[in-house]
Amino acid sequence: MADVGVIGAGIAGLTAAYQLQHAGVDVEVLEASGRVGGMIGTERTNGYLVEMGPNSLRGSNEAQESVIASLGLESEVVEANDAASTRYVVREGRPQPLPMSPWTFLTTDLLSASAKLRLLGEPFVSSAPGGEDESVASFVRRRLGPEVLDYMVDPFVGGIFAGDPDRLSLRNAFQRLHDMESEHGSLFRGLVHAARNRSTDDGPSRGLFSFRKGLQTLPDALATALNGRIRRNTSVQALRPGGSVQVENDGAQRQHAYDAVISTLPLHALTDIDFPTEVDLDPLAEVPYPPVSVLALGFREDDVQHPLDGFGMLVPSVENEFRILGTIFSSTLFPQRAPDGHVLLTTFVGGMRHPDLGRADTQMLSARVQDDLDALLGLQGAPTFVRHVPWNRAIPQYMQGYDHVTETIETLESAHPWLTLAGNYRQGISVGDALESGADAADRVLDRLAQPVPSR
Ligand SMILES: Cc1cc2nc3c(=O)[nH]c(=O)nc-3n(C[C@H](O)[C@H](O)[C@H](O)COP(=O)(O)OP(=O)(O)OC[C@H]3O[C@@H](n4cnc5c(N)ncnc54)[C@H](O)[C@@H]3O)c2cc1C
Repeated sequence: MADVGVIGAGIAGLTAAYQLQHAGVDVEVLEASGRVGGMIGTERTNGYLVEMGPNSLRGSNEAQESVIASLGLESEVVEANDAASTRYVVREGRPQPLPMSPWTFLTTDLLSASAKLRLLGEPFVSSAPGGEDESVASFVRRRLGPEVLDYMVDPFVGGIFAGDPDRLSLRNAFQRLHDMESEHGSLFRGLVHAARNRSTDDGPSRGLFSFRKGLQTLPDALATALNGRIRRNTSVQALRPGGSVQVENDGAQRQHAYDAVISTLPLHALTDIDFPTEVDLDPLAEVPYPPVSVLALGFREDDVQHPLDGFGMLVPSVENEFRILGTIFSSTLFPQRAPDGHVLLTTFVGGMRHPDLGRADTQMLSARVQDDLDALLGLQGAPTFVRHVPWNRAIPQYMQGYDHVTETIETLESAHPWLTLAGNYRQGISVGDALESGADAADRVLDRLAQPVPSR
């Protein structure tokens, strides 16, 4: 039986290990911390259910749906409240609903009349010459106009990547938009084409969802299925040619040789360990992972004036009197997230926009966040609950020039065929993308292990 080492028990590593185990491979997961899930983490305290990293999953990912079904977690799934289809974006200091239909688009105050007219001209904008690694901001300004960038795209880039649209690569960070332009010459035509081709046989796809007891349910179920194959508090220190891994556990060093190794270490961690290779790893070490702080605040329901009738609100960078990137109305989004008569608001701060605040201490952060929430949602009392989770290195930024990162990863894998890389820096940053990248890595390792060993 082949012996495969998987480094990291985040969603990518757990999925890779689960799939390999299913295929009859002897697998061992090496995890530096004392828990599984990586960025996924749920805590229940004082009647509040707090998500420390991701808050929700999207239902459109096949690999993710198949893992959930195979783990028997269907009955644990909770779908987002209908009210969560409203999303607010702040303009001129007020949360405004994002238009979701042609009528609300015509009547919204989020865009000026001239920005709406400019948007209607999108199908007539000529496409960019191929080959250029255009930034998200440049693409949106060119096709949709500057106001759409400021009030519709920049806030989402802040909310998803904690990123800067002027520096993110369109084709790497939002490949679908890039492909719509290159294949259909226009986003509008691309959307019409996608709507026409959406098969009615696809069945109803799940929208946003979580689990009754929070997202930790998914890594916990994977860990249970991996039954004893996870070594916690086991930090990988070195990788040696051929698939030998040196780990430290409780101060003791151990070395183990595997037939294959899957690394799901964040790129900064991979380039920090001792790994002799001819391949220049600088492009991997240079990928920014800006700090993000999550601040979960509980309030008495009567102490918040805003009805919190939505998913949450995003703050565009042009609204620069505010410091928060956005707030999820967590107790509206999913049931049982706050005690009766209370609400839970989860706010994100930092990212490429305000890295200093991503590192701020709880007292200063809490004061700053409450100032912003007071101005935007109307607070009439102090929080009844505070939980601060700092992520010193949060989300990898798919910056312009990211093709070089992808090429380096591929060169590294060709130079060391025993090593396969997976994680949120490879196919997208969502939980579903990271999960899929783990599943793909397991497939590639299985293919390689199935090949006859070349005779000497
Ligand atoms: C604040 C925040 C909010 C987010 N919100 C969402 C959301 O709502 N929806 C969504 O889909 N995505 C969201 N994401 C993104 C998503 O959570 C991540 O991209 C995804 O979970 C990453 O999974 P991964 O397995 O690639 O990496 P990780 O989860 O980072 O796992 C890597 C693992 O490697 C371990 N490790 C590190 N060094 C070593 C070492 N030397 N030896 C052994 N192990 C080591 C780590 O401890 C960790 O467990 C969010 C992320 C953050 C930070």
